[in-house]
Amino acid sequence: MPVLFVGHGSPLNAIEDNEYTKNWQAIAARIPRPEVIIAVSAHWYSKGTHIMNDAAPPTIYDMYGFPDELYEVVYDAPGSPEFAETSKELISRESVFDDSWGIDHGSWSVLVHMYPDRDIPVFQISVDGTAAPEEHYKIGQELKALREQGALILGSGNVTHNLRLINWNIGSVGFDWATDFDDFICQSILNHKHQDILNYKELGEIAKLAVPTPDHFYPLLYPLGASDPEDKITVFNQKGEMGSMTMTGYLWE
Ligand code: ZN
Repeated sequence: MPVLFVGHGSPLNAIEDNEYTKNWQAIAARIPRPEVIIAVSAHWYSKGTHIMNDAAPPTIYDMYGFPDELYEVVYDAPGSPEFAETSKELISRESVFDDSWGIDHGSWSVLVHMYPDRDIPVFQISVDGTAAPEEHYKIGQELKALREQGALILGSGNVTHNLRLINWNIGSVGFDWATDFDDFICQSILNHKHQDILNYKELGEIAKLAVPTPDHFYPLLYPLGASDPEDKITVFNQKGEMGSMTMTGYLWE
């Protein structure tokens, strides 16, 4: 199976039909049908690594102040206690099963477009906010073996994500620092310079602006770790949005 990182952007993408969502659909149509989706969403940000092993995970509405229509989206795909168990065995750091969460909007805003039939099992692994970049990357490396078993490892966040500096009125534009940071990550991915990505803080000021908190950045490190040097890399949705966000996604196949 390929591995995938998606910049999910605004929750409204869940109910819109735009160039981003069209590209998500096109990727799902092009890659093999997964046996299971292992989603790492920016929005399950925890202390420690938590793994969902619910047989029927609920849909979580972890966003506020959006139109009612968004709170009516239900992504009721089955879970996969089996793949959750296997994942826990593969992850060497301490982890716990946790069914207090569900499929959050970082996952479902993308999956409603990619797999609208909701018939592929999905579960989430949390982003440990206390772990160093290397530890997230290592989990990706450890889960890589599941690609052979048809698991789609899906990171969902945004490479550049600074809500405090968002300008709601400027559309698909990125501030210079936002796109500079995004370009640096893109070139590092294309040139297989993963250590430079893990050391992103060395970029100084633009890294502080682009990644004021790492919740939306760390989900990239899971598919990155699970990628293989032989994979063909496709970059998609490479655009700024509302100034301080980038939507760039990556497919390794
Ligand atoms: Zn988000």
